[in-house]
Amino acid sequence: MQVCRKIDELLSCVEQFKQQNKTIGLLPTMGALHEGHLSLAKRAKKENDVLICSVFVNPIQFNNKEDLEKYPRDLDSDIKMLEEIDCDVVFAPSAEEVYAEEPTETYSFGALEQVLEGPQRPGHFNGVATIVHRLFKWSKADRAYFGEKDYQQIAIVKDLVRQYQIPIEIVECPIFRDPDGLATSSRNRRLSPEARKIAPKIHEILTKSAELSHNMSYSQIKSYVECEFKMRKAFDLEYFEIVDAKTLQPIRRPSENGAVGCVAVWLDGVRLIDIQKY
Ligand code: AMP
Repeated sequence: MQVCRKIDELLSCVEQFKQQNKTIGLLPTMGALHEGHLSLAKRAKKENDVLICSVFVNPIQFNNKEDLEKYPRDLDSDIKMLEEIDCDVVFAPSAEEVYAEEPTETYSFGALEQVLEGPQRPGHFNGVATIVHRLFKWSKADRAYFGEKDYQQIAIVKDLVRQYQIPIEIVECPIFRDPDGLATSSRNRRLSPEARKIAPKIHEILTKSAELSHNMSYSQIKSYVECEFKMRKAFDLEYFEIVDAKTLQPIRRPSENGAVGCVAVWLDGVRLIDIQKY
């Protein structure tokens, strides 16, 4: 496994793979890898000749300085984990390497970025699109793997691919959960042991809401979920919204595209997100 810290090093690996006619799978991550990331990495490795995994805490997608500073980083452990699953290339550049010059890209995703995470995190999706677009260009990947936990991110990335006609397949992967139901996340490391015990409630509340959805309207489900979080003082709910699975616009009744409940909630100073399909 090759570890590239420089863009040029990545480009020459990619050049070699292309000369050998190898298909390339790309997994973009911010590191502090866990089983959720590995589930995507293993799939990417299976479905492509080679796997490139990027590990980069992208500063321009953070709108909260403290969140950026506290974001867990552990490149040595990431490299070990990726080596074990036979990853071919780890691309772990510094911020100076990626943004030697102030990034000037501006993207527009219309209604897709005006809901859920969008209003809460100004500039976030522009930052995501900037790095993802650059990674797509540098890696020349045939497929890129994204997790459904970041549901809106997938919709944004698909729109990026459509707008710029990038020849890449976006592969959506299911959420990987700890045995108690908590979606694995790099941010979970920052939870205190007490908060970690409460955190599975997020998935529990959402699962229950899906059971109730057979006899409840979407506005009743929304009230139910909001109420369940408000009842528990440890949680500070940022939003819960039931949206159309494709347009991401809030809906009041079932849509032929499907419906997804998206939640962002603070626990112990950590912002956690999760989804539930209805
Ligand atoms: P991150 O390092 O948090 O930016 O995540 C990198 C990729 O891994 C994103 O596409 C995430 O959606 C995905 N991912 C993170 N956690 C999980 C999980 N628990 N299950 C599935 N995919 C995940």
